[in-house]
Amino acid sequence: MTPPPVTIVDSERPAPWAIAPDVPLALRGLTVAYRATPALWNVDWDAPAGAMSAIVGPNGAGKSTLLKSVLGLVPTLAGEVRVFGAPLAKARGDVAYVPQRNAVDWDFPASALDVVAMGLYGRIGWCRPVRRRHREAARARLAEVGMADLADRQIGELSGGQQQRVFIARALAQQARLVMLDEPFAGVDAATEHALVTVLRGLAATGVAVVAVHHDLATLADTFDHALLLNVRRIAAGPVSEVLTEEALQRAYGGRLAPTQLRALARAV
Ligand code: ADP
Ligand code: MG
Repeated sequence: MTPPPVTIVDSERPAPWAIAPDVPLALRGLTVAYRATPALWNVDWDAPAGAMSAIVGPNGAGKSTLLKSVLGLVPTLAGEVRVFGAPLAKARGDVAYVPQRNAVDWDFPASALDVVAMGLYGRIGWCRPVRRRHREAARARLAEVGMADLADRQIGELSGGQQQRVFIARALAQQARLVMLDEPFAGVDAATEHALVTVLRGLAATGVAVVAVHHDLATLADTFDHALLLNVRRIAAGPVSEVLTEEALQRAYGGRLAPTQLRALARAV
């Protein structure tokens, strides 16, 4: 296909090469297509440090694609991604990713502790043995997410919420400054969601940028500080209360939400 002409840099925003190293994640004109169909079109966004940011939008809006393109898992057609002011290749150690649960093959023979220890490899080196103190560090991270008792359980034998906790513990072990999660609360019970939110909020309080794809507009304002409302294009971005306007929701969700639902959601924030 012929790449369509796109505006790579919005004149109101700094060019990629001028992005300060304290901006955890900056997107400039990010455009991604699978074959001929764009999944993301000319998206500009800055994720703030020390805050919980949600990526919201209808099914197929490009939310998962956005996370994957930041990680270099899908090629970008145009635009730029900067992590702490640098291309991903220079900032990989700063980024942790918690994939959507159904995207992971849970058959591999690894315990919860093994998965968390993987978060330490960036620091101890792939070829070095995992020593006792590393296992202890991994165990401590599991305890932080309330999983100390299940450290030796095979990952495939854990419930959805427990698996999410393990992956969040791995992100803690990695000491990443940007933590990205794809629908971390999908399919977990309310108590687990509350526990995960508490852990993530604690991370954000230490200055980490937490960026999560979130599917539930009703809980957005309770859980998140900032939001990027997406439907292939950027519809709105900023503090949650400013993003969830009736007009923006209408543009993002169109006929997928009834007018009464739109009004109720906009009023709820
Ligand atoms: P969301 O996470 O917001 O639901 P996705 O980022 O998964 O949306 O997908 C955005 C669009 O790209 C959808 O139309 C989806 O069908 C399409 N898409 C996603 N992954 C692929 C792929 N690997 N190959 C082709 N099309 C894809
Ligand atoms: Mg998705």
